[in-house]
Amino acid sequence: MHAKTIKISIRSTAAAAAMLIGSGALAADSAPDYPPLTIPFEAEQVSVDNVYYFLGHSGVPGEQNEGLTANAGFVITGEGVVIFDALGTPSLGAAMVDKIRELTELPITHVVISHYHADHVYGLQAIKELTEAEVIAQDSSHVYISSPDADQRLEQRKQVLSPWVDDHTRVVAPDVTFAEEIMLKSGDYRFRIVHAGPAHAPDDSLMMVEPAGVLFSGDIIQNDRVPYLNSAEVDTRNWMKAIEKVRELNPRILIPGHGKPSEDVTAALSFTYDYLAYVRDRMGAAVEEWVEFEDAYEQTDWSRYENLPAFDASNKANAYRVYVEMEKAALGGS
Ligand SMILES: [Zn+2]
Repeated sequence: MHAKTIKISIRSTAAAAAMLIGSGALAADSAPDYPPLTIPFEAEQVSVDNVYYFLGHSGVPGEQNEGLTANAGFVITGEGVVIFDALGTPSLGAAMVDKIRELTELPITHVVISHYHADHVYGLQAIKELTEAEVIAQDSSHVYISSPDADQRLEQRKQVLSPWVDDHTRVVAPDVTFAEEIMLKSGDYRFRIVHAGPAHAPDDSLMMVEPAGVLFSGDIIQNDRVPYLNSAEVDTRNWMKAIEKVRELNPRILIPGHGKPSEDVTAALSFTYDYLAYVRDRMGAAVEEWVEFEDAYEQTDWSRYENLPAFDASNKANAYRVYVEMEKAALGGS
């Protein structure tokens, strides 16, 4: 597989920065006002220099968290800023840009998207309006963007995230897409962006930041919460393979799509992996023995997971989704 490489030239970023400064007054006049956040919102730093993250709340998007349920992050490279994921409302995207501006005046050159789910991309609209950044995502993101699911999700978010998501909110498509892998260089940093899906979503992608040894994993790793598997696109078998791929990258620090960053990467990887393996094992056994789903669910010991965030919201639907997936596989389907 051939990896594309994008090299950011100092000249073009300086020009972009100059352009931004030049058009600053105009942009301020014409920039739309996004409803402000009322929750605390801060960039936090991991234990290596120049790598920051925003931590999402546990639970489903709603008024109490103002749509901040996923993580995002950024790296200041010395030549520019590379963002990973755009959060779940335009207001959050605008707030991210503000927080980055407090730390550096270097141009925000790229936004890498882990996958096109609402909690990770609605901030793009504001980032695109406020910066010159290029959006990078995997090829199959287009399938979601043009699907009825994307419209339905937007309608649902207008209901539960008003006023932060409204009739002006839209899904912004990527500027650059890739199939398997793409490499980005900026300053002394290399960003290896790898397709890891279909796992949680068809376009799941992760970003390994070297030499920092930091991995932004997207939703293939969800730390200390019951991962969300209840989507027709979820492929748990491939998901487990994707986690094995992550192990080979040998990151020192992991910033997951949801849940706290971890320096005990093995434990964080094992958590999602073991959950997938357990649900597949239990539901697979039930399918093999012709046990009905309701009975299989009742008979399964969920004690290791039942006190974790999102257990009540997700676990039963997850188990059912995997049951159907295992049934299909047993019947010789895909
Ligand atoms: Zn997510």
